[in-house]
Amino acid sequence: MIFAMNRPVLALGLAALTALAALGVANAAPPAADLIIVNARIWTVNAAQSEAQALAVLNGRITAVGSDAEVQMWKGPHTRVVNAGGKRLLPGFNDAHVHFSDGGASLTAVQLNDAASREEFVKRIRDYAAHAAAGEWIRAGDWDETKWTPAVMPTRQDIDRVTPNNPVAIDRYDGHSILVNSRALDLAGITAATPDPPGGVIVRDAKGQTTGALADAATDLVEKVIPEPTAVQRRRAIEGALHEAAKLGVTSVQDMREDYADLSVYAQLLREGKMTVRLYAAPPIAAVEDQARLGIGRAFGSPSLRIGALKMFADGSLGSHTAYFFEPFLDVPTSRGLLAEDMLPIDRTRQRLLRADATGLQVCTHAIGDAAISTILDLYAEVESKDGPRDRRWRIEHAQHMAARDFERFAQLHVIASVQPYQAIDDGRWMEPRIGHERASRTYAFKTFLDHGVRLAFGTDWPVASFDPILTLYGATTRATLDGKHPDGWIPEQKISIQEAIFAYTMGSAYAEFQEREKGSIEPGKLADFVLLSEDVLNIPAKEIRGVHVLKTWVGGEQVF
Ligand SMILES: [Zn+2]
Repeated sequence: MIFAMNRPVLALGLAALTALAALGVANAAPPAADLIIVNARIWTVNAAQSEAQALAVLNGRITAVGSDAEVQMWKGPHTRVVNAGGKRLLPGFNDAHVHFSDGGASLTAVQLNDAASREEFVKRIRDYAAHAAAGEWIRAGDWDETKWTPAVMPTRQDIDRVTPNNPVAIDRYDGHSILVNSRALDLAGITAATPDPPGGVIVRDAKGQTTGALADAATDLVEKVIPEPTAVQRRRAIEGALHEAAKLGVTSVQDMREDYADLSVYAQLLREGKMTVRLYAAPPIAAVEDQARLGIGRAFGSPSLRIGALKMFADGSLGSHTAYFFEPFLDVPTSRGLLAEDMLPIDRTRQRLLRADATGLQVCTHAIGDAAISTILDLYAEVESKDGPRDRRWRIEHAQHMAARDFERFAQLHVIASVQPYQAIDDGRWMEPRIGHERASRTYAFKTFLDHGVRLAFGTDWPVASFDPILTLYGATTRATLDGKHPDGWIPEQKISIQEAIFAYTMGSAYAEFQEREKGSIEPGKLADFVLLSEDVLNIPAKEIRGVHVLKTWVGGEQVF
């Protein structure tokens, strides 16, 4: 059967329809679609009609979903008709956790993530520095020393001699540590005598000298002396990110720790008709007053650009030993990590959360370690008991290591788990020696979340990890680590089905931004955001998902790739 909107109502809007009725033309021929896609294998993510062959689009929204014959009725003289060649079509991917302009900037920065050795890491920095303007900061990079043998953190001594003319502050891939050269340390005024800031670590060697590595809040000591990107650099990075999103089939992003200056670039691109991804921005909770004073609440704006969320940090990362756990790390038995700066003092955190709740803002809190997650659930529960239950959809970003008792609390508080499955197949390579098997069994615990009725939203944390949704689907369904050592899955009982994974990446992410009525499935009335894939991800072995790629991407019925 065909599922279609009452055609004139959708096309013209109710007010216009009433006007037409008054003129006695309500029975005029219905308008034709702008776009029809036929001969597709559509997985709609709509339980009432999960499979379909064709769809029609009018004014940026889906107007009909059904068989080729049913949808052909919408064809008019100016309708574009696309034959999908029997390929699989899905709702566009909605990445619930990205750092969009950083991602764009990373595309043209020094590429360190796949450097397989310390020598290669140093060589790539040398080659990049040879072409950089003197004095220009060398940034990003996303190095990952766990891919080296031995897997030891790099030091400023490694890079000083190849970067004589440039300050360097390159990111570890997890975004929780940076490595700086001696020149950058000097510019930031950091010496062996500088104390660790609250919530951060200035890494030192056995003699107490700085190594150049800085973790979490200590990175701010350097970040604050790095000049802000110019408007031109910012726009170039965002345009690169838009291009990347279109290529990968990502039609919506939820941008964490948004810089206000990025917002003005998005607004400008929107005015120019160049905003080819829908974006929901979550600025830092430290600036809660900015949004609270506006009184606009969560998810405010247009389908293309919205604000009303806040990003908070509860702790750091496992890779940097700054995730906050109940028990110590096995490889650093003196430490169980630490709470982030946003949590200190805890009473200020509580006040910020209550302020956010009073104005209807949505809170998205990064929490990795089990103790960090528990602490956030405590705080969210306090807000609920003070202000009463309502549809808050507050989130925990990453929700990486769960205490066994907290799955139930997650569900009871209706907290959304905003998770990044690609990281399971990446971190699974090295995680167990740090926390042991027992804790690892509740790591990236997607299946246990679903079993407890917790809503999942999928994302990538780009540029911390790959932006490619195909790798996320592959990671969630196989849990096959990138080193090939767990072909049948690392913690295989936490694998989920491809249907569950697609749901989390579309409807799940849409729900996580209060947009489940607007997008997330292929249904009449919803925004016409969808993607055509090279293979049918629903009917190939999970191991083969990795080889699938995006053929075409549409946002609001416009083909953007
Ligand atoms: Zn992030």
